[in-house]
Amino acid sequence: MKTTARYAGSRDPDVAGPADVVRIDPDGGRVAIDWRLDLFNHSPSGLNWGYGGSGPAQCALAILADYLDGDDQLALLLHQDFKAHFVAGFDDVWELDGSDIRDWLAAAGIQPEDEKLQPRRVTNVVEEDGGFRATLEPCGHEVWFAVAPPKELVCAECINELVDAIRKERV
Ligand SMILES: [Zn+2]
Repeated sequence: MKTTARYAGSRDPDVAGPADVVRIDPDGGRVAIDWRLDLFNHSPSGLNWGYGGSGPAQCALAILADYLDGDDQLALLLHQDFKAHFVAGFDDVWELDGSDIRDWLAAAGIQPEDEKLQPRRVTNVVEEDGGFRATLEPCGHEVWFAVAPPKELVCAECINELVDAIRKERV
């Protein structure tokens, strides 16, 4: 998690067209964040905010995926909640602190050091169905890969379990 990053967006209400969102790193560097259409295509026309539509959903996904820094599955599962909590309420010009995102995740029960978010070792790789099947350690979940698997990765099934448990607690 990029807890020390800040995110900022600005848009001129009189000018149409996509608005960019930047990440401001602790050294002051500003980087336009990826829209992450590869994860989910809500809005090919770009990011937006201040209401509850598809541009804001894409904006929420883009910020959260950047902040979570590799936990794409978690970003995908949480981005609609993130949109409702933050992005739908943004003004034309806004800034969001990484610590606010950390607090929001913590309130939902997600800690940066959560065991379920840690990368798993990929073991017992065997060729199967034109791809590869492997077991993740230490959680024991099995994963099938179309291409040769990496040495380690974050387990999507573990993240699903984490989010399921959080949603049940909230009800
Ligand atoms: Zn797992």
